[in-house]
Amino acid sequence: MFDAIVIAKDGDTQTVTRTQVSPDQLPAGDVLVQVGYSTLNYKDALAMTGAAPVVRSFPMVPGIDFVGVVIESSHADYAPGDRVILNGWGVGETHWGGLAKQARVKGDWLVPLPEGISMRRAMAIGTAGYTAMLCVQALERHGVRPDSGEVAVTGAAGGVGSVATALLAGRGYHVAAVTGRAEEAEFLRGLGASSIVDRTELTGKARPLSKERWAGAVDVAGSTVLANLLSMIRYGGTVAACGLAAGMDLPTTVAPFILRGVTLAGVDSVMVPGPIRRAAWAALAAELDMAKLDALTVEVPFDQVIDTAPKFLSGQVRGRVVVPVAPELE
Ligand code: NDP
Repeated sequence: MFDAIVIAKDGDTQTVTRTQVSPDQLPAGDVLVQVGYSTLNYKDALAMTGAAPVVRSFPMVPGIDFVGVVIESSHADYAPGDRVILNGWGVGETHWGGLAKQARVKGDWLVPLPEGISMRRAMAIGTAGYTAMLCVQALERHGVRPDSGEVAVTGAAGGVGSVATALLAGRGYHVAAVTGRAEEAEFLRGLGASSIVDRTELTGKARPLSKERWAGAVDVAGSTVLANLLSMIRYGGTVAACGLAAGMDLPTTVAPFILRGVTLAGVDSVMVPGPIRRAAWAALAAELDMAKLDALTVEVPFDQVIDTAPKFLSGQVRGRVVVPVAPELE
């Protein structure tokens, strides 16, 4: 038996508890992993609180990320002792996830832990950081460059936003960090933000077009925030949209697209094919400033996971949250 966080549902009532499960209860898969670290993400908070229908089958072990050591494998690419990362693929939603001492998954979902990155730092990056890299790559795929002008990052003090700020600054961009928390200005400047923008500048009803302000943006918010961003993007610029922290809707018009040639680039991290994941992880390992990563990381013990999750939904979490499950594996 081993420790796990388990979400259960009885009728309309959802519960989440720390409990013991047996290896026989793990779902099917060709690789069994001893989990070293997991994380908490916004999506885990939605799953554990039931605030959105993230979990598709019950009981469910949450945890959309984990890193650990292979215990058993019948997959050609992995052998016992290998260090592996898992992000997404519905893990923690439709397939038992990383907030447990063991996980059994498909080997095709795994990425080898890049050389030179500790397990703890891999989870400090986690889905949020890897999504931040996918967003930066999306901006550049659409022609945004450091000399194009300032780029905005919304939710800058959160997981995706803080890593995106550090990555963009590391590539030489001037970053406008959009935040609802003025008290995090110093933290954001430490990550490399060149200016701080109060979120309220982006929360009023969006006009079809506003004064051109940013060459591009990474948006974790959606809704009115994204609509305002789109209205402020310079001619030919791009917004990489990955989140819905402000809402799922998008009250915009076609004006930014047809009058300014703005591109709205959607970013998904969950179902991205293996080669793109490996490239994103290799880029993260090569260029992310590890001192900045450490500065944006907090650790939450396994026994405090359930109490911490709701804090994501009230915007109280700064940076990335790692959960040591078996840190001695490091
Ligand atoms: P966090 O909770 O760590 O950060 C979200 C940040 O958004 C908050 O810290 C806050 O930052 C800001 N925020 C909160 N509420 C609002 C609001 N009402 N309006 C505008 N901004 C708000 O979450 P993550 O960074 O882990 O995830 C961010 C979003 O990205 C989530 O919606 C998540 O589901 C999504 N996501 C999507 C992925 C994909 O594959 N497409 C992968 C990973 C995440 P501040 O206080 O600085 O304003």
